[in-house]
Amino acid sequence: VRARVMQVDHSPDVTYEDIGGLDDQLTEVRETVEMPLERPEAFDDVGIQPPSGVLLHGPPGTGKTMLAKAVANQTDASFIKMAGSELVHKFIGEGAKLVRDLFEVARENEPAVIFIDEIDAIASKRTDSKTSGDAEVQRTMMQLLSEMDGFEDRGEVRIIAATNRFDMLDEAILRPGRFDRLIEVPKPDAAGREIIFRIHTRKMNVADDVDFDELAETISDASGADIKAICTEAGMFAIRDDRTEVTMADFEDAHEKLEQTDEADVGDSV
Ligand code: ATP
Repeated sequence: VRARVMQVDHSPDVTYEDIGGLDDQLTEVRETVEMPLERPEAFDDVGIQPPSGVLLHGPPGTGKTMLAKAVANQTDASFIKMAGSELVHKFIGEGAKLVRDLFEVARENEPAVIFIDEIDAIASKRTDSKTSGDAEVQRTMMQLLSEMDGFEDRGEVRIIAATNRFDMLDEAILRPGRFDRLIEVPKPDAAGREIIFRIHTRKMNVADDVDFDELAETISDASGADIKAICTEAGMFAIRDDRTEVTMADFEDAHEKLEQTDEADVGDSV
């Protein structure tokens, strides 16, 4: 079971330089996650326990997973990822057991960063807690909270959770000592978009006419993941055209194409 749902990555390759437009978020993640991992004695000396967990919240594709991976990389910690949806099971006790396994694996791989994506899957406000499926999900969450509360270690295991649906979360997980550091990870503004364009084109053969400032202005509302997709698609246009240089027109065409795909998707789901 472990192997199926838990990914242990001993050296995630994301660095802080790969993340654009999230300077404040990065500082806060470093303070809460990196410091306890690197200097647990600082907390001992002062006599406080570092916050166990950090919750990242914001729209999809904005860099939440990247932030968690980068901090694990920077501190030479293992990165252990699990999606909240994978903790939701039919059988009684299975979710809780997975949570125990998760923390056990983390302790075996210290220092470690546990990343729980889609935490809302097990930590949503319940509208009707009488159904048995809900009770099982509730038990899984209780197990997670008790693992976090019972943390006697000095900081060698840090927990980062992420959600796109902050408004849905049960307040129990936001109590002091749990995920009491909340970090909003929004979509980038124009300056952020420009930086992210530059990051994702670092290895691309970009023509002189490409104006990232202009792209960042016109391609509003894009997430980091959208920008990455536009860069790849722009490269595809160049390849189809048998060129090695990617031009401004390629980026514009890529943007247009991806916007149409998005609209088609929205149309489908209605
Ligand atoms: P989700 O909520 O859907 O899991 P997420 O916020 O965890 O999304 P990531 O998985 O971190 O998003 O981002 C997906 C990809 O988009 C990254 O691998 C990266 O290529 C790109 N990306 C997203 N945000 C940024 C950013 N701020 N800077 C650079 N690249 C980014």
